[in-house]
Amino acid sequence: MAVSRTPFIAGNWKMNLDHLQAIAFVQKLAWSLADAKHDFADAEVAVFPPFTDIRSVQTLVSADDLPIAYGGQDLSQHDSGAYTGEVSGAFLAKLDCRYVIIGHSERRTLHGESDADVNAKVKAAHRHGLIPVLCVGETADDLEQHGASAVPVAQLRAALDGVDAGKGLVVAYEPVWAIGSGKAATPEQAQQVAAALRAVLGEIAGDEVAASTRILYGGSVKAANIASFLREPDVDGALVGGASLDLDEFSSIVRFKKHVGA
Ligand code: PEP
Repeated sequence: MAVSRTPFIAGNWKMNLDHLQAIAFVQKLAWSLADAKHDFADAEVAVFPPFTDIRSVQTLVSADDLPIAYGGQDLSQHDSGAYTGEVSGAFLAKLDCRYVIIGHSERRTLHGESDADVNAKVKAAHRHGLIPVLCVGETADDLEQHGASAVPVAQLRAALDGVDAGKGLVVAYEPVWAIGSGKAATPEQAQQVAAALRAVLGEIAGDEVAASTRILYGGSVKAANIASFLREPDVDGALVGGASLDLDEFSSIVRFKKHVGA
């Protein structure tokens, strides 16, 4: 039986937009999608604001019953205690976050997060009922030395060590060289790695989990190129950085089906 995967468009705001700007943005995004009669069966939408915005986004989403999901950009591998500056998955769950980004390349490179840290964070997310949006991807050097799939596949295996992926998982393939560079991977490259990641998911978690897990592409996604990625059979959406801060651009990306006639 073929499993259908609802496309997923996720906006990673990084360290942009304060809580007042977040309220305005989410409200306008909801209006824009409602105006365009967006069918959320065509694409689920989530935003990942800074931690300080999440309470405001929760209040707006719940008061207006908006069909927009949200989550944290990171979480602590610990549940509570003397971990200054860290945020527990328990707190994100209390704010009705559905998702949490884990292992973004900026966390791995700027904050020295290892595969073991990423693995512990995936487990922490599951302990609190959050769905990890697990980022994997190779640097330009990795690409030259090992090809496109080797590093993302190794990162996926490490992140899922001792994890029941059936508890909920989204994988985001984000080649580091494509993030914020304006130079996206080709759809064929994204498909090749997404297929390799899905095969590994099958090996680790079984065919059913592999078939139902959404695998996103991330790295310089724009309204102009989103349709080409979504035409690939193993690419189920996008993790969008820079373009997620531009309301019209992000709204167009979400509406990739109608907007670009995919
Ligand atoms: C990201 O940071 O996850 C990302 C994909 O950024 P951008 O879309 O700006 O390349």
